[in-house]
Amino acid sequence: MLYEISEKAIQLVNEGKKMIKFNMGDPDQPTPNEIVEAALEAMKQGKTKYASSVGEKGLREELASIHNVSAGNVMITAGSKWAIFSLMFLLLKKGGNVIIPTPHWTSYELIAKSFGAEMRFLRTDIDSGWKIDVEKLGNLIDQKTRLIVLNNPNNPTSKVIDEKVLEEIVQIANNKGVTILSDEVYSDISFVKTKSILDFDDKHVLVKSFSKTFAMTGWRIGYIIVEKELVEKMMKLNQITLTNVPVFIQIAALKALELRKEIVDKIREDYRRRADLACKILSKTKMKFSRPDAPFYVFPKYDNLDSESFALNLLDDGVAIAPGTTFGDYREYFRIALTVPDEEIELGLKKICEALP
Ligand code: PMP
Repeated sequence: MLYEISEKAIQLVNEGKKMIKFNMGDPDQPTPNEIVEAALEAMKQGKTKYASSVGEKGLREELASIHNVSAGNVMITAGSKWAIFSLMFLLLKKGGNVIIPTPHWTSYELIAKSFGAEMRFLRTDIDSGWKIDVEKLGNLIDQKTRLIVLNNPNNPTSKVIDEKVLEEIVQIANNKGVTILSDEVYSDISFVKTKSILDFDDKHVLVKSFSKTFAMTGWRIGYIIVEKELVEKMMKLNQITLTNVPVFIQIAALKALELRKEIVDKIREDYRRRADLACKILSKTKMKFSRPDAPFYVFPKYDNLDSESFALNLLDDGVAIAPGTTFGDYREYFRIALTVPDEEIELGLKKICEALP
């Protein structure tokens, strides 16, 4: 449904209609100039050749020192999506099941299902503050469980998993010998402290990205921190597929890390302001919502809403949103991405309120 909405939005824009794009998690800010310059300079210096399928040494070492692991555990990937795809490809090709708390980013399900894995969803909802019920999660695990996928902070709720809950999940996973894949692509720009899975146990797998943290979605660079044996296997997968993430992009990513403090502070502040603005407007409506712990999303609920038809009709008013059904069984919810300027947040939310049944 989200793809249908995105396509229709593009079509309407091509026909000359103005559209407030709340539907995509793609930052409106440009990639910081220093990062762009670093890529250009690297290209001029001829860093335009085939290269290592596991990633450049300098970038892996820098990431290893940030995460306090060895460089041999770090693999550079074409966006975090490729990291998730590769890991699932390796762990799920012989079948098994995957446990995912919902609401969840659609791609986990689509990727896992493409390998024939069985999905086991664990519902969370707004009334319990999106809390994961650890006991229920434990009950979903069996001999065939290959992965528990955590998204911390979460897309679409922007909730950070409570530290104690995370610790309990890690304990259960360790007791039952199941690997956790922790997707933390929003953690560096989170408004609240977000514990990484690696703070608990380095047996588990961390996936991160430059996309959101540095407004680099189109560059396609992310990374995974995982045991060496899997790095080797993922490298082999890269050798027969993508070969490598372009070296000039890896050099630009290294520059991003060098400047991360100032870039991240600025990006985080932009989103904090936008989140405050959206919450202020939403709190005057009948919609239920939880204050985001992180960029970019707010996931409001409106009782008895059919968010699919609502989202389709809203396109005619010039606003694109993602219906809640994109993220699981959440028909009364919809997701707005605060990846548009403040004026558009105000106008878009006003139009949404006017259009609600
Ligand atoms: N994880 C989550 C939770 C996401 O929302 C996204 C993109 N929307 C990704 C991973 C993929 O990001 P990328 O491939 O650009 O790193």
